[in-house]
Amino acid sequence: MSLLIHNREYSTEITAADHGKRVSIAGWVHEKRHLGGVFFLIVRDFSGFAQVTLHKGEVEKGLFERVKKVPRESVVAIEGKVKRERKAPNGYEIIPERMEVLNEASQILPLDITGKVGAELDTRLDARFMDLRTERTKHIFIIRSRVLKVIRDFLDGQGFIETNTPKIVSAATEGGTALFPISYFEREAFLNQSPQLYKQMLMASGFDRVYEIAPIFRAEEHDTTKHLNEATSVDIEVAFVSAKEVMAILEELIACVYSEIERYPGLSKLNLNLEVPKIPFRRITYDEAIALLSETGEEIEWGEDLSTSAEHTLGELIGELYFITDWPCAIKPFYAQPIDVEVEGKREDICNAFDLMHPKLELASGSQRVHSYELLKRNIESKGLNPDSFEFYLDAFKYGMPPHAGWGLGVERLLMSMLEIDNIREVVLFPRDRRRLAP
Ligand code: ATP
Ligand code: MG
Repeated sequence: MSLLIHNREYSTEITAADHGKRVSIAGWVHEKRHLGGVFFLIVRDFSGFAQVTLHKGEVEKGLFERVKKVPRESVVAIEGKVKRERKAPNGYEIIPERMEVLNEASQILPLDITGKVGAELDTRLDARFMDLRTERTKHIFIIRSRVLKVIRDFLDGQGFIETNTPKIVSAATEGGTALFPISYFEREAFLNQSPQLYKQMLMASGFDRVYEIAPIFRAEEHDTTKHLNEATSVDIEVAFVSAKEVMAILEELIACVYSEIERYPGLSKLNLNLEVPKIPFRRITYDEAIALLSETGEEIEWGEDLSTSAEHTLGELIGELYFITDWPCAIKPFYAQPIDVEVEGKREDICNAFDLMHPKLELASGSQRVHSYELLKRNIESKGLNPDSFEFYLDAFKYGMPPHAGWGLGVERLLMSMLEIDNIREVVLFPRDRRRLAP
């Protein structure tokens, strides 16, 4: 192990005020420049960049030659004296005394990470470890980490408890979405498409407010810029409330995420002006949505789901985050509660479900849930599913299940829309899609 890295400081911890001090830094050889008799080595670490300057004749000859030869992206540790230099990053340069090459990089790099040569997304994803060394990609994932922390802090602060439900499940599921089968000893099992059934079962536990941030698996064949086969979902479920309350939690959470990320200094690396959305978000019903679409010439038959093109048209008309409520039962899952015709005076083929929409795409889906065992069983049957395979779930509704509501929010959809990134794969470290199973 290198002696030099024991005292390693980050490049941004050192300043011009350290003039004359001996320091050691470690990182990657970002760039090498030779100007007359002066050689510059730009070393990159997690925090930023440091300039190492070698004047021919002033440093020991062997060291000069070694620095000149070290391939770009090699990992090095350098010890030297700090010298004030206004033109260098962070206002200082290092006059080196010792250098250790901790690991030499191969000469031909899979990616140019100085940003001088652009690369296709596929090339970047194939060499993701390297792509993560670029400023833009690095900040996307720091932001992702912060978003998850903001979400946890927000929900913890509202009395939620974080839960972990199984991702390996038996045949029983919501139906609709295709599932990935796996072999589970002598039986067939599946990767879970959502924690829906489990978080609902927890409502019968007395926990009242639960959330989970975990992968969801969808065996969808479509190859789009907004679908992954393994995505991350924030799911909440709340007892003794209706859809209204969980919609309020959702919009407050989104506004909170935006305002925290707006303060993140690395945002400038994404050339982005984040505007924190105002709450409450606009709410339109499904009927209003299809009426709006019809005015633009886009006809949706009542009971049909909104196509991607319909979502875009609506998004352009509305221009901000909004909810679509009061969906036809036929296009929402069996666990969505039909609207109470007597109390709410609406049509009974409408359910108390909602989607949170960004002008460009759907961010979240939620609803008030059916909590009556009888109705739930009937709904499962009417969707053409077999209640027997839902026994484990239905059981929880037999012995005291409170009214409850909840939603599922796609982390990647939130990130890509907030950061104005067109392809969802950009916000996942190692995306899984129709063609991509490695790295
Ligand atoms: P869409 O209609 O846009 O494909 P969905 O209605 O099938 O989405 P839901 O089952 O409602 O998705 O899942 C809840 C949320 O999880 C979605 O609003 C979305 O943010 C996210 N999500 C669902 N499927 C995917 C996927 N394949 N890739 C990325 N995110 C997803
Ligand atoms: Mg949905």
